[in-house]
Amino acid sequence: MPVPMIDLGAQYASIRGEIDAAVAEVFATQGFVGGPKVAGLEAEIARFTGAEHALAVASGTDALLLFLRAIGVNPGDEVITTTFSFFATAGTIANAGAIPVFVDIDPATYTMDVDQIASRITGRTRAIVPVHLYGQCADMDPILRIAAKHSLHVIEDAAQALGARYHGRNACTLGDSAAVSFYPTKNLGGAGDGGMVLTRHADIAERVGLLRAHGSDTTYYHRIVGTNSRLDALQAAVLLAKLPHLERWNAARRERAAYYSQRFAEVPEVVVPIEADGNYHVYHQYVIRVPRRDKAREALKERGIGSAVFYPVPLHAQECFRSLGYAESDCPHAAQACREVLALPMYPELTETQQDEVVEAITAHVIGART
Ligand SMILES: *Cc1c(COP(=O)(O)O)cnc(C)c1O
Repeated sequence: MPVPMIDLGAQYASIRGEIDAAVAEVFATQGFVGGPKVAGLEAEIARFTGAEHALAVASGTDALLLFLRAIGVNPGDEVITTTFSFFATAGTIANAGAIPVFVDIDPATYTMDVDQIASRITGRTRAIVPVHLYGQCADMDPILRIAAKHSLHVIEDAAQALGARYHGRNACTLGDSAAVSFYPTKNLGGAGDGGMVLTRHADIAERVGLLRAHGSDTTYYHRIVGTNSRLDALQAAVLLAKLPHLERWNAARRERAAYYSQRFAEVPEVVVPIEADGNYHVYHQYVIRVPRRDKAREALKERGIGSAVFYPVPLHAQECFRSLGYAESDCPHAAQACREVLALPMYPELTETQQDEVVEAITAHVIGART
């Protein structure tokens, strides 16, 4: 039985009537940019997370970039982040005109090693961008303490973690601001690109609001130079229809993660993900470490089972950041994770039979690798 990495079709089939009706509503009005669906989505995501201000933008990447532009990062300024993330986390720092400063990860959770932050702070540091990787919040309390001490902004990269919680608080309300992505494969995925900036600060919200609309709040009058980063009404309609299901979908991901981990308990070579104390992990990805990772991928592929490597290269070792002067051997925990991690099929509609298939394939691979 083939088991895909993700099955968006299964999700669509389960709520097809709601999605189709929402899309039809937008077509009936022919209002494709802005309007009640976008405003409705902003209000509902603000309510879901508890964030004070919510601004829909064109992508998760823009959510990160517009926040950095809103705080006014200057050339030569530095922004501290993790070396183990999707490229957008660091690319937006560079595109905002700042220098990304990378720290290694905690090898148990894959989120940024908070103990390395203090030593990387200089007179040019402006912000810290922790990433809630795979659906689990970074260890935010120590990050917030360091940031408060040095007056730094904290922007959560919550692209993979909408619905996650940390010591009873919701992701997206922990720092000064948060970036969410609605890319189709994210826990709340649209029918295309989309994103949102969430923030507790009215002045930042106002600035992001200007930046996403060419710096204008009165048509043809431009207070600052911005860009076009709007969310389509069609995306907002689809996301609004899906949002009421998100909590249930995240719970289903957690159940599937627990089942994988329970079954892998019999295979000591497989390192399963951990949920750190006080966390509510929403398993955007279920990521294991496994011996001979690339061979494992091939074995899965032969059986028609999907898998993925998030991520094969740490950001500090990317070709485009060569001029920053990092050595390959910097951030060794991230480098090791890049060699060992393997993301297995994970989505709310995944069946137990499918999971058994995945577990059997990994187990057979591991036993084969013993000899
Ligand atoms: C998906 C993702 C982004 C970027 O979001 P887009 O909507 O694809 O632009 C940023 N950071 C992380 C960690 C992501 O997973």
